[in-house]
Amino acid sequence: MITLQDVSKYYGDFKVLSACNAVIAKGEVVVVCGPSGSGKSTLIKTINALEPIQEGSITIDGVKVNDRSTNLPRLRSRVGMVFQHFELFPHLTIIQNLTLAQIKVLGRKKDEAHQHGMKYLERVGLKAHAGKYPGQLSGGQQQRVAIARALAMDPICMLFDEPTSALDPEMVNEVLDVMVELAQEGMTMVCVTHEMGFARMVAHRVIFMDQGSIVEDRSKDDFFAGGGDHSARSRQFLSKIL
Ligand code: ADP
Ligand code: MG
Repeated sequence: MITLQDVSKYYGDFKVLSACNAVIAKGEVVVVCGPSGSGKSTLIKTINALEPIQEGSITIDGVKVNDRSTNLPRLRSRVGMVFQHFELFPHLTIIQNLTLAQIKVLGRKKDEAHQHGMKYLERVGLKAHAGKYPGQLSGGQQQRVAIARALAMDPICMLFDEPTSALDPEMVNEVLDVMVELAQEGMTMVCVTHEMGFARMVAHRVIFMDQGSIVEDRSKDDFFAGGGDHSARSRQFLSKIL
């Protein structure tokens, strides 16, 4: 589904990603973790070309992301992205947030987009809030809206960048629950998160990054077993967060 081949990226002279390789199969749930500044957000943003890369190649569902001829808006419409800070449109109601891109990007009729949007709002337990504005909802509710908005586009995969790290602790689980459900339904997911409970429950693989490199890419069980063949950096990291 998603392939990264020798992906390197620079900000000026600074090499932020260094020859990253990863293959994510359809239906696979991959958790990406690592210290702050290790390049996790940058890596995930390169997948739908929110950040360009200088070397290597990325393909999603057979489409080359970093190719001039690729229709990026169309590709991005098929890749759901959920950020740390929800990024809902504050001046639109919840349901308008869910229908806008369906209408503008996918060309759906207003009624159809509305129906589809309501279906996903119901899924995340927020149907009753359709007419409210983002500012009237809690952080956890807003993040669930952001997930519903991404799902309403019928994405082929979902990318999450620390979706719970800006939330008050009591709201983390309501968002993780939605993500767990998605994972169990077989959605292909790449999740940057330090929620190791989530990783243990649904991840197939865990990728550990350090200083722009993928230093570990292991099955969940192997990753958490943390044997002597694991990098010192990842063992140290694990010992701090577990
Ligand atoms: P993480 O998500 O793992 O915390 P990031 O991908 O956000 O890491 O950042 C990786 C490195 O790239 C950091 O050193 C950060 O300061 C740097 N960086 C991120 N965005 C930019 C940018 N737009 N310009 C220059 N440097 C950046
Ligand atoms: Mg980040």
